[in-house]
Amino acid sequence: MALPENCPLCHAVGEKQSVVTHHVYGGAKNQSRAFFYCEVCDVRYQYPGLTAEEEARFYAAEFEGFMASRAGNKGGWHKAEDHIIANEPTRQRRMKYLAPYLDEHSRVLEVGCSSGFMLFPLAEAGHVCKGIEPSGVFSEFVKNRGLTVYDSLRQMQMVVPDAQFDVIFHFFVLEHIADPLAFLEAQLTLLKPGGKIIFEIPNAADPLYSVYDIPAFERFYWSVAHPWYFSEDSLHYLLKQIGLPYEILRDQRYDLSNHMVWARDGKPGGMGCFTETLGLELEDGYKQALIRTGKCDTLVGVISKV
Ligand SMILES: [Zn+2]
Repeated sequence: MALPENCPLCHAVGEKQSVVTHHVYGGAKNQSRAFFYCEVCDVRYQYPGLTAEEEARFYAAEFEGFMASRAGNKGGWHKAEDHIIANEPTRQRRMKYLAPYLDEHSRVLEVGCSSGFMLFPLAEAGHVCKGIEPSGVFSEFVKNRGLTVYDSLRQMQMVVPDAQFDVIFHFFVLEHIADPLAFLEAQLTLLKPGGKIIFEIPNAADPLYSVYDIPAFERFYWSVAHPWYFSEDSLHYLLKQIGLPYEILRDQRYDLSNHMVWARDGKPGGMGCFTETLGLELEDGYKQALIRTGKCDTLVGVISKV
């Protein structure tokens, strides 16, 4: 098995690196990839990483099919319209991160806009919205409904060299990017002074892994599509390198019902299953406890351009 010589984030030596898991979800059977942990900066990363060619091929052609197989039927990835409806609770949860930074006619860019479920309501509310979406199926749908979508940041900069935004956001994109620092720095050049980059990523302290240690979840969680899994400490390490003010917020996406189904069946898809019996108060209290202790499933970063 190939071993990393250095941490790809903080460059700590090989002796500080150890294997987290050999279970790489979606990876080829005969591959020698694994996820490693760096005890210096606390990041988890895939090694060897995807080549640029593998990364591009994966996103252009395989993303929707891969997500459909992961999310089951409820994800609605086969049809963009279904996807928008299925993601309405997600949209509402995310809006609490965006709303404080939106003015009346903010210029907004979403990197990885998927079916456009975040952008369409923002456009209707009067914001000037643009999207980046490398996956063909969804970007065609979003374009057909009247929003401007580019294949990549680079393509947008060629078409509109002076594009500037008040808010740039991306949800569950950064963990897919081979060079996350360069990715964020490229966005900073597109941001007006006072603008914000807001993003959400999985937290490596997901309770199904860090608290309950469910074997089936361990086989599902570490995805071939993710070069990185950040914790709060490793995200601090990354964001400090930018040299701008930032904050890191915690959130919990999945509920107690989902966790109970993971524990019982070793499968996703339990969201809301037992909420009628448990009650919203218990579901909410459970999420708050996970957020309080930091054993929650996602992290939100907010970077301020001064
Ligand atoms: Zn490191």
